[in-house]
Amino acid sequence: MKIVFIKVNMMYSKGKDALKPLIFPIIEKITPSGCTVSFYDERIEALPDEIDADIIAFSVETFAARHAYELSDRYRRRSSEVTAKKEEEGKKIRIVMGGFHACAMPDEVLEHADTVLVGDAEDTWPRYIEDVKSGCEKRRYDSQNKCPVAFVDNNAHCFDGKKYLKLGMIQASRGCKFNCDFCSIKSLYPSGVRQKDIGDVVEEIRNSRWACQISMDIAFNDELLELMYDSGCIMVLIGFESLDERNLRIMHKSANIGIMNKGGEDETGDEDTQHDIRIKRYEEAIANIYRHNIMIYAMFVLGYDHDTAESIKKTYDFAVRNDLAVANFNPLMILPGTELYKRMSSEGLLKYDKWWLDEDYRYGDAMFYPKSMTCDELMEGCRKARYDFNGYRTILKRMFGAKVNHRGIFNSAVFLLVNLISRSEIHRKQGRSLGGGNEL
Ligand code: SF4
Repeated sequence: MKIVFIKVNMMYSKGKDALKPLIFPIIEKITPSGCTVSFYDERIEALPDEIDADIIAFSVETFAARHAYELSDRYRRRSSEVTAKKEEEGKKIRIVMGGFHACAMPDEVLEHADTVLVGDAEDTWPRYIEDVKSGCEKRRYDSQNKCPVAFVDNNAHCFDGKKYLKLGMIQASRGCKFNCDFCSIKSLYPSGVRQKDIGDVVEEIRNSRWACQISMDIAFNDELLELMYDSGCIMVLIGFESLDERNLRIMHKSANIGIMNKGGEDETGDEDTQHDIRIKRYEEAIANIYRHNIMIYAMFVLGYDHDTAESIKKTYDFAVRNDLAVANFNPLMILPGTELYKRMSSEGLLKYDKWWLDEDYRYGDAMFYPKSMTCDELMEGCRKARYDFNGYRTILKRMFGAKVNHRGIFNSAVFLLVNLISRSEIHRKQGRSLGGGNEL
């Protein structure tokens, strides 16, 4: 049985920031015997015009959904044309889709696929393949989401000949103990956190310089930060999200609220003074991570109820003032399956019913009607913050502003590389429509 597995790109042009997709080695390992699997990552390579396979499997994120559907429909059409010409009776290409978007929108996915896999691939993919072999495959397979988190070999054969960013990605767990309303993690893994076998984690990061996502609550955990640095951690990604505690409360970002209120309330009870103190606590957290020689990749979401055009500018100033190595200024994304999507929908605040399919939506646009500014102010404020933060002068200011960003040749090289890639990616994506891939 011939299987072609495709990681779908969100738009036509190729990027420079693609990390190795962890799903490839997992699929390579768990595919039942008697099958040949080829892997394509459309983010870094062109797809063939025609695919001769029994199964085409798509891994789909929400931003790439529109393009995945285009590809699926075209490959199906092309396959039936070829089949009709050759008069090959009974030869039918099967389309199967999995990934985050398939989990959130399985019914939508089934309009473009024969089968949808919902949840972990480890227990849905082998069942699906065995059923195809027996000719009794179903429309939908649901994971129990209980299987152990698989060991991932970053040097697996499926990556041979593919050019990715040379930064190892390690998944130490699935799920999250927090419950931020904009995040899709809880809807994907409702049953809590599954920790990968610690021996496997150690094996994956051995002899590598690595980066990872952390939550703010470990910003003052000196013992852990020291161990991370000693084991090769060079950068941490942190969701700062907002400088306004009222927004953090709306989104349920409890780890950040805990840091902001560390040390208690200001005695005067003055709200402005308290706001300044909370921002100072964020800055102390940053300084403590820098003290451990670890760079910071910060993520901000803008557009929550208390954000204004002015607060976008203040967020930008905060990121530059603190010499963050990288920062994302994202207009709040409304992902399907999240609490936020339900709330926005019930309050009638969605600008598009399904932005990921809408021809009018452009990358960087507001997806909803913010309460304290216009859609244009949100889009333009984030666009300006992104472009200014990634301007050459600002890059140099941040590089030499914090010692950690230019400490030794290695840190300097990583800082420059991630900033140049980030700059190029922002210019490539901002204002572009989703989909519109290779013409087949
Ligand atoms: S945003 Fe981060 S901390 Fe919040 S639920 Fe998602 S993964 Fe957890």
